[in-house]
Amino acid sequence: MQSFPRPPDKVLQRLAARHGTPLWVYDAAVLDARIAEWQRAFDGSDHRICYAVKANGTLAILQRFARAGLGFDVVSCGELARVERAGGAPGDTVFSGVGKRADEIDAALAAGIGSLNCESAPELELINARAGNARLTAPVALRVNPGVDAGTHRHIATGDHDDKFGIPLDEAASLARYAATLPGIALHGLAVHIGSQLTDLAPVSAALERTLALHDALTASGLRLTQLDAGGGLGVRYRDETPPSVADYAALLRRCIGERKLRLVVEPGRALVAEAGVLVARVELVKPGAQHAFVVVDAGMSELIRPALYDAWHPLEVIGMPGEAFSCEVVGPLCESGDVLGRARTLYAEAGDLVVVGCAGAYGSSMSSHYNARPRAAAVMLDGNDARVVRKRETIADLWRGETMS
Ligand SMILES: *Cc1c(COP(=O)(O)O)cnc(C)c1O
Repeated sequence: MQSFPRPPDKVLQRLAARHGTPLWVYDAAVLDARIAEWQRAFDGSDHRICYAVKANGTLAILQRFARAGLGFDVVSCGELARVERAGGAPGDTVFSGVGKRADEIDAALAAGIGSLNCESAPELELINARAGNARLTAPVALRVNPGVDAGTHRHIATGDHDDKFGIPLDEAASLARYAATLPGIALHGLAVHIGSQLTDLAPVSAALERTLALHDALTASGLRLTQLDAGGGLGVRYRDETPPSVADYAALLRRCIGERKLRLVVEPGRALVAEAGVLVARVELVKPGAQHAFVVVDAGMSELIRPALYDAWHPLEVIGMPGEAFSCEVVGPLCESGDVLGRARTLYAEAGDLVVVGCAGAYGSSMSSHYNARPRAAAVMLDGNDARVVRKRETIADLWRGETMS
């Protein structure tokens, strides 16, 4: 019995032997199933699904989404470039983020971005100025901060008063009216995104109600708003969470929109890719400890930082000879005490076994780093009987690409 979605052990063993470890393995069938689920849930309503690239920007994944007709949500010019490289349309892309640089706004406008989601008054001025400079009109949504507690980890909550994101609701009305007077701005709607790994629909509903109340006030005063961007954030099951289904989530959003003639934009990241990816690592050694043993593997926070950063829990399974389980911490080789993949686990492992880290398709490879001078891992996409390397393992020379010495 497999406790989390993953390819068969035999396949993972073969891939690890062939391509080495640590290794990302993505399953195209899971990606396709998620895409279909999201498309089905919003079918029949005016909508656009904009995949949040920061969850996993691997070109092969973006290409698959672009071919399926999804749009994108990006937070930097680099992500926009990735979308274009993978065949995605800038016109179907939303640009979010609190600190867009002038040159990023210029590049997004030149590419024909679908929407710049503006997060502050100074940013609105900057967008207006850059658009004027380029003799263009910028399609803009105002991202509001609805002041709700998303009930998620504080590092990934974005919709409460103290978070840096969005425009406070009580300032957004006057800013929207002001935006409508600016020659470089075409204001088309409001946007809201309250956080990530949401497992409860109540905060989503509260955020949307508040945003729609503002929307209604603005349209009543004569603004023509055609879109509502409900953001992303739908959670997945890592352990025992019970996130709402995509269908329930979509039904809630559609119910909130009601009879309003609005295009609904959603920006799922994690929910589209988390379950489609595993990280395969090899056990280097098992080290006895005072409280528990340490299972030291060849992947760590440079590959998957979520356990270290958010205290996140990922399912782990060992592929190897069975033995009597012992209590242990599964750790990486990096020189940080926080470099842990799994705390307080009970499993059996010995040197040479493979450890499969589940539900690792989101915020894994996209948050990976060169810390401790570790070349980035390779990635393979499984597609039916085909297993294609979609990212080559970095070489040692890649570590100092661009550096110079006297
Ligand atoms: C991160 C982010 C998303 C995606 O969040 P997930 O939890 O991965 O769905 C969507 N929209 C915005 C503005 C974001 O910052």
